[in-house]
Amino acid sequence: MKTVRDIPALADIPVLVRAALNVPVENGKVANSFRLRKAIPTIEYLRKERAKVVLIGHIGEAGTETLEPVYEAMKLLVPGLKWCRVTVGAEARAAIRAMRGGDVIMMENLRRNVGETKNDAEFARELAELADVFVEDSFDVCHRVHASVVGVPTLLPAYAGLQVEEEVRQLSKALSPENPALAIIGGAKFSTKEPVLLKLLDVYDRVFVGGALGNDFVKAMGRDIGISLVSNADPKEIKNLLNNRKLAIPLDAIVGPLDGTPETAQTCGVDAIPADKAILDDGPKTTAMLVDYIRTAKTVLWNGPLGKYESGFTSSTFELAKGIAASGAFSIVGGGDTVAAIEEMGVAAHFSFISTGGGAMLDFLAKGTLPGLDVISQ
Ligand code: ADP
Ligand code: MG
Repeated sequence: MKTVRDIPALADIPVLVRAALNVPVENGKVANSFRLRKAIPTIEYLRKERAKVVLIGHIGEAGTETLEPVYEAMKLLVPGLKWCRVTVGAEARAAIRAMRGGDVIMMENLRRNVGETKNDAEFARELAELADVFVEDSFDVCHRVHASVVGVPTLLPAYAGLQVEEEVRQLSKALSPENPALAIIGGAKFSTKEPVLLKLLDVYDRVFVGGALGNDFVKAMGRDIGISLVSNADPKEIKNLLNNRKLAIPLDAIVGPLDGTPETAQTCGVDAIPADKAILDDGPKTTAMLVDYIRTAKTVLWNGPLGKYESGFTSSTFELAKGIAASGAFSIVGGGDTVAAIEEMGVAAHFSFISTGGGAMLDFLAKGTLPGLDVISQ
């Protein structure tokens, strides 16, 4: 894969950089800037080479949000950053023409244009008209077949940014791990995690399934899980995975009413879940088992919180993070909620690598490549 370092000439050349700008915004302010910080090395490299750096990215799902709060936060990291209130068209082209080598500009939310998520050829052409070179540095969207991800790189010479290069390097290591290798998959939505579970059961020595995802497995074991959240997974597929001797599931759980708080919760074995209660977190026996596995592991891969952490059910996720932090294993973690949880708990510095991708990380691990990587020059 060719990277920004392979671009033959950069001085005064407009370069379109697909950046990971999709960060949480609360009350008009960026609440977590992890992805923005990861965008800096590529921007600084291009700036040092006197390129005209044009940042494109998206925020939110609705297509109505503005990147302005992200611009305000990014300006603190990129002094002199300019703003353009449109993404494409005459006004955008004029703003870029007015730039000098070493300038950086951020364009408004790609998804305000309906063509972005439809991978519309005309929208891709309008984006490509803005610059001479394309740089993919938004690993989090590389699993999406969108205009800025797969359309533009067919129209411009395309290179990987430094963050995308690092993601591929680290996640490739996770795909041929040093043994013993342990994978911990929590969170929710079995359908999005089944492909990666199958792959991990192939490559890893042990795969633990917990969090809301674990509920499906506990249920498929024939346990009564009360009013716990379950996905609409096919029980046959779950049973099939349960037959794999590498698979481990929770031993105990913290339970309560669906909208309960940690203060009113109780702990019980997965064979004794009250009919009127829901699993809200994995229990202490389960985390002790995981910490034990971690002690002997050389590689630990983790995606998905083990509990409903937004409602205060953080204990198993926290114990797990601490266990990984204390181990000398090569540790990789990813997922929007997982990274938010570990940053909130202040333990992020203890991981060997934190992916900026959620779905993209899982897809990469399942397939070994992504649509947005396949279009980068070799
Ligand atoms: P990521 O974004 O890290 O990939 P997911 O989106 O798959 O993770 O899952 C995160 C969600 O899973 C969070 O909203 C969290 O509250 C929820 N969750 C995890 N365990 C439980 C549980 N036992 N009960 C309810 N929700 C849970
Ligand atoms: Mg999530």
